[in-house]
Formats: sequence, C-alpha cells, structure tokens
Amino acid sequence: DSDYDIGFKELEEKFQEMNQKNAEIDMMKEMETYRKEYIGNVSHELKTPLFSIQGYIETLRDGGVEDLSIRDKYLQRIDSSVERLLNIVKDLDMINRFESGQIALKYSTFDINQLIQEVFDLLDLEADRHTMTMQLQTTQPQLFVYADKHKISQVLINLVSNAVKYANREEAQIIVSTKEGTQSIHISIEDNGMGIKPENLPRIFERFYRVESSRSRKEGGSGLGLAIVKHIMEAHKQPISVESVYLSGTKFKFKLDKSSADRLRKVKPITLP
Ligand code: ADP
Repeated sequence: DSDYDIGFKELEEKFQEMNQKNAEIDMMKEMETYRKEYIGNVSHELKTPLFSIQGYIETLRDGGVEDLSIRDKYLQRIDSSVERLLNIVKDLDMINRFESGQIALKYSTFDINQLIQEVFDLLDLEADRHTMTMQLQTTQPQLFVYADKHKISQVLINLVSNAVKYANREEAQIIVSTKEGTQSIHISIEDNGMGIKPENLPRIFERFYRVESSRSRKEGGSGLGLAIVKHIMEAHKQPISVESVYLSGTKFKFKLDKSSADRLRKVKPITLP
C-alpha cells in the first residue's frame, strides 16, 4: 500500500489532468499578453487627440490668441479631435460587441447597387480634396442581396474611404463592381493607389495594425476599420480577400447571398386556369 499502488489508469488520468492545467495556464498567459497589448494600443490611440485638445485649450486660456480667426481655427481643431476620439470609441465599442457575441445581424433584402451609390454620395465630399473618380461597374442595374444593410454599408464605407485615404495619384480611380453569380452577388472594391507590400498584407485586418501610422493618423485612421470589416463579413459567414500590388493598387473582394426573392423572380410565372 504505497505510491506504487497507483494503477496505470490513474497515472494516465493524473497526467492528463496536469496537461490540461498547463494548457489552461498557457491560455491565461496568452490572454494576459493580449489584454496588455490591447490596453496599450487603446491608450496610445486616445492619447494623441487628447494631448492636442489639451494643447489648444492651454493656448486659448493663456489669452495669447487675440485674433478671432485664429481662435476659431483652434476651436475647430478641438472639435475635430473630439470627433476623432468619438469615432475611436465607437469603433472600439463595435469590435467589443462583435467579440463578445452581442451583435445579431438584421437581415433584409436590398439592392446592393443602390447602397453603393449612397456610399459614393456620402464620401463624395471627402473625395473632393483629391482629384478622384468613383465608379460603379455592374452587370445589371439592380442586384438584390440578403444581408444586414446597415452593416454592409459600414463595410463599403470603410473600404471605399480607405481607397480614398490611400490614393496616391493625380488621377485616382476607385471602381466598385458587382456581378451576379449563381448563389451570390460578387462585390469588389478596387483602387489604383499606393498599394500594400506583400509582407504587410497578411496583417492589415488586425486591429490597430497600420502600415504607415503617421499617414493613417493624418487621414483620421485608427487602424480599426478593416478589423470591423472582417468581423462584419465573418458574421455574414462570408470570407473577404485582398490582393495588392505595391505602388499600383489594391482590390478587396467578397460575396453576399442573393436574395431569394431575386432567385424566385427568375422562375417563369405560372398562370392558373
Ligand atoms: P486605418 O484607420 O489606418 O485606415 P484600417 O484598418 O482601415 O485602418 O487599415 C489598416 C491599414 O491597411 C491602413 O493603415 C493602411 O496601411 C492599409 N490599407 C487599408 N486599405 C488600403 C488601401 N486601399 N490601399 C493601401 N493601403 C491600405
């Protein structure tokens, strides 16, 4: 009746238990690293606009600014920093809700071409500062999909505004194309901008990842846009892919389910006697 009495089976069970404990510890360590990194990224992202707000307020308070137009300019800058902070917080909130499974999609049938046009109209104001054309190429005037319209508009806004942000040319061109397949509608967003180097491409969907932080920040980017896009497409159970040629252009592609109404429309109506 000593330790040697532990049977083989019991030993194996003990061993398995230990293995499981080790795996749990590894996972906890990993989560801890991840949590630290996340908090580090968030605070870094919030710091920049907060410091600039603080700077402008201090200058205004010191009374050194007598020129009303300069004061207005400072107030405007404070305003845009506040807007940036709000956008970051909104993006973080959305990612958080996706990751904790709190987002349920609201499916409906809608015309994807019309939605793309609406996104163009919305972003046209921004694009004005570059010489840029946005174009929809499609096989049919209307293409009905079954998806969460609001979330898909978010995907399109993020992808098209990236194309605007990272446009690098005198004559920038953004082409969104839609095409009907058998089960799905194929959508692509293509630009002839600065492109992404192959070594950076696999990381662009990670949150906070930016190829060039300074440029992205100047353009109002927080590095969260593509992480949100990926979450939305995952929720739709549709992969999103990207191809890019450095200094030449980038193309994002994804599919959406065709609406069943659209599929039914193809069936010849039967006239009952
Ligand atoms: P950001 O807020 O920085 O734009 P995103 O998550 O939307 O964050 O994109 C991550 C990074 O991927 C960007 O910082 C940029 O370096 C790169 N990127 C995204 N879209 C494009 C594009 N159309 N052309 C070139 N680079 C892009």
